Amino acid sequence: PHAHSRSAALHERARAVMPGGNTRHSVFFPPYPVYATHGRGSRIWDADGVERIDCMNNYSSLIHGHGHPAIVEAIQQQATRLTSVALPTESEIELAELLVERLDAIEQIRFCNSGTEAMLFAIKAARAYSGRPVIAKVEGAYHGSAETAAVSSQPGPSRWGPADSPASVPDAGSTPGVAADVVVLPMNDVDNGRRILRGVGSRLAAVVLDPLVKNLGFKPVTQEFLQMVREELQACGGLLVFDEVYSLRLGFHGAHATLGVQPDIIAMGKIIGGGLPIGAIGGRADIMTALFDPHAGARLGHAGTFNANPLTMAAGLAAMRAFDLGAFERLSALGDRLRKGLREALRIADVEGTVTGATSMTGFFLSGKSMSNYREIAALMGADPTIARRAEHVFHHLLNHGVYMGSYGFFVLSTAITEAEVDYIAETTLAALRTLPT
Ligand code: PMP
Repeated sequence: PHAHSRSAALHERARAVMPGGNTRHSVFFPPYPVYATHGRGSRIWDADGVERIDCMNNYSSLIHGHGHPAIVEAIQQQATRLTSVALPTESEIELAELLVERLDAIEQIRFCNSGTEAMLFAIKAARAYSGRPVIAKVEGAYHGSAETAAVSSQPGPSRWGPADSPASVPDAGSTPGVAADVVVLPMNDVDNGRRILRGVGSRLAAVVLDPLVKNLGFKPVTQEFLQMVREELQACGGLLVFDEVYSLRLGFHGAHATLGVQPDIIAMGKIIGGGLPIGAIGGRADIMTALFDPHAGARLGHAGTFNANPLTMAAGLAAMRAFDLGAFERLSALGDRLRKGLREALRIADVEGTVTGATSMTGFFLSGKSMSNYREIAALMGADPTIARRAEHVFHHLLNHGVYMGSYGFFVLSTAITEAEVDYIAETTLAALRTLPT
């Protein structure tokens, strides 16, 4: 049926050499993903020549969309000088200085190459600094694929244990031993969270929190939950680790600054690399120095062939310089405009739905039920298959009408987008809602 499509043909060819036809599960969707050829500003083109507004922006990393002139220029200049080298360069000092200056809780920083790696090192750092084994994390929250971080990010109904004491479920390919050193907290459940943390007591190395959990529809951590976590960490001496790989977009000075918290360690990635691969961990200078400074013994080994490669550093610096306070505020206003437009579309089409998120990140869920955690969302989706069918319809309608959104219901904007494009997204969503399957 898709014989005329070049993407379909590419997908068939790709499947011979790559399982599923590509190398990222997060960019696969049935019947086959479209294959991209190029992008410019807010737009991307696929192998069939179809142009779309990019509302994924590579899962948040492209804060300025595609081909931002200053970033292209920085990459071109750097590419002729040095792409990677087994020596430090001034370019990493410049990006480090910018981030330390801008992000409230970061006094020192180290670079790596992905958010997964940043979380891996944030967890190792918390354990190495505290000398303790146990990591606490929120059920259903995705923190990349490091083994400890992946415990109970997708446990599934048959394995998730009681709601007030979620099971620690290892990811496929991880051992129960990995999960034994992880406790899982029910999202925003203050009393049960407190009880579980107290049960760990002095064995607790850290609580890991994403301030805005994307795979729960950009569900924010509540102030009450955050307060409980801080009290318990204060009492037992564990560290607070924030995963801002995605949610750095929540605040100009970091998500932690918006929430008014000073985490001890923060994992970052995505936007700080200007579209090239990056991860970073930062935080309190005493922790960073004690663990990583060879002048002081470097208790925690941290090498990496491409850490702080000058190409990524140049791109990241150009991107973060261009993402100044004015750009942040303009982009946040565009996010508000989109959320307003989507709510309006739901109202006009008289369809039940929820629009969530903040700043440039927007969640779109086709149920009006207020849900507080991963289980409730999964249970509702299981009980009512029309929600997934309707979401798929909206996704495909948008895909066929010039808008590429996240297949499971979200939009992430870049500074390249215009008000007219935001309005077009809302109008196209309205058209999709008017033709929903029942
Ligand atoms: N943590 C969070 C909150 C993320 O959203 C992601 C990626 N979407 C990661 C970690 C992993 O980052 P990466 O894909 O760069 O490894």
